[in-house]
Amino acid sequence: MSMRLSRSIVGQAEADAVRRVIVEDAYLGMGSEVHRFEDELAAYLGVDAGHLATANTGTAALTLAVDAVAPGRFGQGERGSVLVPSLTFVASFQAITACGCRPIPCEVLPETGTIDLEDAEKRLRADTFAIMPVHYASNPYGIDETYEFAARHGLRVVEDAAHAFGCRHKGKKIGSFGDVICFSFDGIKNITSGEGGLVVAMNAGEAATMQDARLLSVARDTQARFTGGRTWDPDVTRQGWRFHMSNIMAAIGRVQLTRLESEFIPARKRLSALYRELLAGEERVAFLESSQDDDIVPHIQPLRVKNGLMPRVRQYLLDRDIPVGVHYKPNHLLSYFKSEAPLPRTEALFAELMTLPLHPGLSTGDVELVCVTIREALDKA
Ligand SMILES: *Cc1c(COP(=O)(O)O)cnc(C)c1O
Repeated sequence: MSMRLSRSIVGQAEADAVRRVIVEDAYLGMGSEVHRFEDELAAYLGVDAGHLATANTGTAALTLAVDAVAPGRFGQGERGSVLVPSLTFVASFQAITACGCRPIPCEVLPETGTIDLEDAEKRLRADTFAIMPVHYASNPYGIDETYEFAARHGLRVVEDAAHAFGCRHKGKKIGSFGDVICFSFDGIKNITSGEGGLVVAMNAGEAATMQDARLLSVARDTQARFTGGRTWDPDVTRQGWRFHMSNIMAAIGRVQLTRLESEFIPARKRLSALYRELLAGEERVAFLESSQDDDIVPHIQPLRVKNGLMPRVRQYLLDRDIPVGVHYKPNHLLSYFKSEAPLPRTEALFAELMTLPLHPGLSTGDVELVCVTIREALDKA
């Protein structure tokens, strides 16, 4: 089988769990399976289940989060702006505009790919109400400084932690501290529920708002569904969405959560360390850096290729059936989010970045082959 850049690691246990929901329960929507998944996620992160809400995608989780912390009301005019690194999946930007807010693309640090706070400070506007740091390649670099920055400027923090489930900062799990933290459980993330997402809010009132908002803002419908019922005399006081998770998704997610610490984390760390080991001493490439304070479970494996050699190295790998990804085309270069303010440092990093295969199903031999081929490509370039 040809090498894959990323892939879902699912099997019989996930299939059995889905079968149980379909054949035994025949309750496919949001019910007891989602309830249990939320309790297990809360226990894993060490937060109260009242502080979190699962959603049907990570993008939905980000949208619920931005909407809950934005000033004003959805659909009632401009709601302000959010500082966000340009080097991120378009989901971060779309979640902001989906709430009637405006993303302000910011530079990233070339060493880490995470938001450059000095640059962000210059881009602050009077209507800026939040900063959305993205833990690029699972790296929560600068998280303390980001919270200090936010406190100094009176901003909320919505973490795009889509890459960072299972990561720790100073021994604390990402999602166990901070303001509002969003995860993705899409097919290739550190764990998957098929598609799926999670938002954790340290403010209990906002968490409750998000729990309602994912079910069309029908007040307290989450509690009703978790006990097998529905709210038959509903009230709705704000905009809501159909963003909830289904029992089928939760059944997959629950199995995945049990495999995270035993299988997925060790495998991702081992393969990522092997890349670093096998390319050590090669001056024309560089890995992104991280802090000693952070324990990273890498979701993707970006590599910087210097001296303008990235396109040639990339093509060399592709020609030999080794998949190479692009994470990400900076959002300020996309038509919908085009901004006048240039971001030269982000564009310079983008020109060097390529993503190597990484997922727990990859073998040591696969990583060796990728590294040998990279060295070959550099020697021929
Ligand atoms: C995957 C991802 C998202 C969105 O998650 P989905 O579950 O795919 O909607 C958001 N931000 C980043 C950085 C991601 O990688």
